[in-house]
This record gives sequence, C-alpha cells and structure tokens, in this order.
Amino acid sequence: MSVKNLVVMSTGRGKEKKSMIGIIGAMSVEMEAIKGLMDNKQDTVISGITFTTGQIHGKDVVAAVCGIGKVFAGMCTQTMILKFAPKQIINVGVAGTLTKDLGIADIAIADNMVEHDMDTSAIGDPVGLISGINIIEIPCDEALVSTIENCVKSLSFNTKRGTIASGDQFVADKAKKEYIVNQFGAIACEMEGAAIGQVCYVNKVPFAVIRAISDSADNQSHMDYPEFVKIASANSTKVMEKLITML
Ligand code: SAH
Repeated sequence: MSVKNLVVMSTGRGKEKKSMIGIIGAMSVEMEAIKGLMDNKQDTVISGITFTTGQIHGKDVVAAVCGIGKVFAGMCTQTMILKFAPKQIINVGVAGTLTKDLGIADIAIADNMVEHDMDTSAIGDPVGLISGINIIEIPCDEALVSTIENCVKSLSFNTKRGTIASGDQFVADKAKKEYIVNQFGAIACEMEGAAIGQVCYVNKVPFAVIRAISDSADNQSHMDYPEFVKIASANSTKVMEKLITML
C-alpha cells in the first residue's frame, strides 16, 4: 500500500469519527432505553466501561454507562474522546432538585457545571475553584444548550436552565442542599456532570448536561429517589431521542 493511500485512509476515518454524538449516563436505568434505539450496535469495552457505537435516527452515536461519581465519569469521558473523537458530549440522567421551580420528572438544563465538593479555600482559594483551569463554573456549549432548551420546550416539559452542581455525595440533607444553593446558586445536584464537563473543557470538546428530577435532595430524597428514578430516566431519554434528530 502506498503512503498516499495510507494518508487518505486515515483522513477519511477521522472525518467519519468526528460526526459522532457522544452520550454518557451514569447508570443503566438512564441509558438502556437510549441504547435500545440504536441500530448496528457494536460494543467496545475499555477499563470496564462499555462504549456502544451505532446510529439513532440515522445519526452516528457513541453511548456509555460511566458508573457513579466523578472519577468514573472522568475516566469514561477521556476514553470516549481519545477512542471515538465525538463532535460533542451530552450527559443525560437524573438529579436532585435545588429549586422550587423544578419538581419530580421536570428537566434541568445546565448553563454551566460546578463541583460542590471541590474546596481548597483553607489555603486562600475561592470555594469550588478547580485549580489548574482556575475556574469555578465550567461553561456548557451555548449553541448546544439553546438547542436543548428548544427541544425540551417542544416536548412540553417544565424546565429551567442554570448551574448544576456535582459532587461525590448523594445529597439527602436540607442543610447540605441550602449550602449548595447559597454557595453556587445551583438548580440541581448530581454526581457526574461536572467531571464530564471538566474533561471536555480541557479537551475543547463541546458538552451539555440534561437531568430529569428524581428527588428533592433533602431529608425526603432517600424515599423519593427509588420511587421516581425510572420516570425521571424515561423523561431524560425522551429529550435525548428528540435532541438527536435536531443535532
Ligand atoms: N448505588 C447506587 C447509587 C446511585 S447514586 C447505584 O449504583 O444505583 C444516584 C445517582 O443519581 C447519581 O448518578 C447521581 O448523579 C444522581 N442523583 C439523583 N439524585 C441525586 C441527589 N439528590 N444527590 C446526588 N446525586 C443524585
């Protein structure tokens, strides 16, 4: 095979990969229905995470269940970027509400993400500062967020845009909830989105986070969550399916 042929082949592959939409959810319950929509499914397992490629409504997609928390989410995102080069990454799933404007099964859309458990303030940094990139709020892709908002409104879901806070903790406490609201002005809390955002930010990959509300993130949430996680996941899937047709 000539060198010229090799160059042409590698350029062609690169272009094909860049068209993929990356979708990450933390749990199977958030991702099974999305994977169920995929044609020509092919699985690749890397570091215990299954990356499924295929098409949804004719669009190339790579989807993965990353696991719970910021470490698994970061691992999954970096691997997805290196192996599949998605043009954008969207995190879908469930979250606790931090605002009266969002009830069970409503949709929170992130303008930006914060890590509520990142805190080096004891040595003079602002609370939540992510050292190295030196920001507190990780911005989501504006164009993608607008498309998501149009998509969610077209499905008639109640929705709100704002800051979503991630941390390695299931928030089930009124005082903790108030702390996150007062410190970061967040509208919802979960455990992965900001890690996905941080990895996308350093790799310059556009990203967005869509979360359906599964619980109230207060002393009631350990009761709400098991009851509502399925209906919330179903709603985030509905948004994701429609969104794919709009991208
Ligand atoms: N052992 C359980 C853990 C679930 S943790 C399991 O493996 O299923 C809850 C998940 O839902 C996380 O992925 C998180 O992103 C989201 N979540 C929903 N409500 C939350 C809340 N109140 N606080 C933090 N994360 C929440």
